[in-house]
Amino acid sequence: MFKYLRVSVTDRCNYRCVYCMPEEGICKQSHEQIMRYEEILSVIKTAVAQGVEQVRITGGEPLVRGGIVDFIAEVAQIPGLKDLTLTTNGTLLTRYAEALKKAGLNRVNVSLDSLNPETFKEITRGGKLDEVIAGIDAAVAAGLNPVKINTVLIPGVNDGEIINFIDFVVARAISVRFIERMPFKAVELPPDDQFISENQVLAVISQKYQLEKIDNDSFGPSSAYHIAGSGAGVGFISSRSRPFCQCCTRLRLTADGYLLPCLDSEVGVYVRGMTPEQISESMTQLAEQKSSWQKRHACYASTFASSLSKIGG
Ligand code: SAM
Ligand code: SF4
Repeated sequence: MFKYLRVSVTDRCNYRCVYCMPEEGICKQSHEQIMRYEEILSVIKTAVAQGVEQVRITGGEPLVRGGIVDFIAEVAQIPGLKDLTLTTNGTLLTRYAEALKKAGLNRVNVSLDSLNPETFKEITRGGKLDEVIAGIDAAVAAGLNPVKINTVLIPGVNDGEIINFIDFVVARAISVRFIERMPFKAVELPPDDQFISENQVLAVISQKYQLEKIDNDSFGPSSAYHIAGSGAGVGFISSRSRPFCQCCTRLRLTADGYLLPCLDSEVGVYVRGMTPEQISESMTQLAEQKSSWQKRHACYASTFASSLSKIGG
C-alpha cells in the first residue's frame, strides 16, 4: 500500500530551472483545470484513511499559489497524518516560514543548485541566490526542522561545488540531498546525458569529511549519512545509479487531478468528480498495479509525466 503521497498544488513556477522546465512555450493549466483546495483535501483524507502517513506538498512552486498557508493548516489537522512536509525553491520562505510552521507544517526541503550567484542565476534562469539563502535561514529560525537542501548536480556547471555545499550545511547543522538528474522529456538534455552519481559525490566529500552511514533512515528511497563531528547530514536520491523502484511506496497527485503510481506513469487516474469511495478504490487498484512493477526501472519515457514540475517533484 502507499505510505507517501506527493501533492502538486500548481504547475506554475517563478523559476525556469534548466533541467526542469523549458525557458518558453510552457502550456500553463487554466484556473479551472487546477484542483480546488477542497478537492485536494478530500483526496489526501482518503489517502490517509488508506494508510498514507506522509504527505509532501510540492509543485511547480507551491508557495506561489494563493491561500497555501490556510490549505496547509487544514491538511495538518487530518487525523492519522504523521508527517507533513513541503518542497520549495525557497524564494518566498522569508515571507511564509513562520506562518507555515504555525499552520502545522513539520519541515521543508529547499532546492538550491549553486552557491555561486552567477551559476545559480544561470541554472534557475534568473533566480537570486541571496533570496533563497535568506529563505533557508528563515526556515531554520522558524523551526521547520530538519531543513534539507535538494541539489541536482549538472556536469560542468555545479559539480565543482560539492564541498561548498557540505561546508554550507555543516555551518547550519542542516542536510543536503544530492539528486541525480533525470532525463524528462520536457527538457532537452545534452546528447551524452551525463549525471553525477552518488559514488562520485561520496569520493569528493570523503577528501575533506568523514561520513557515518545512517542505517535506518526515514528518507525512504534515499541513502543518508551523518557528517562526523557536526549536526549536518548528506543524503542521495540516486534513481539512476541505484534505482529504488522496488522499495518505492509513493503515490502522486497532479495539480490537475490525476493520481499517478509512479513518476514514469504513462496513464493516471483522473479523480475529479469521484466520490471518496471511488478514489479509495482507485488507490487500491493503483497499489496493485504498482506492486506488479517490482522489477521495473524508471526510464523517464512517459509522455504523460514529461517533467517534474508537471507531476510534482
Ligand atoms: N519548485 C519546488 C522546488 O524546486 O523545490 C518544488 C517542485 S520541483 C519539481 C521539486 C524537485 O524536483 C526539486 O528539488 C528539483 O531540483 C527536482 N527536479 C526537477 N527536475 C528534475 C530532474 N530532471 N532531475 C532531478 N530532479 C529534478
Ligand atoms: Fe520551478 Fe522547482 Fe522546476 Fe525549478 S525545479 S523550475 S523551482 S518547479
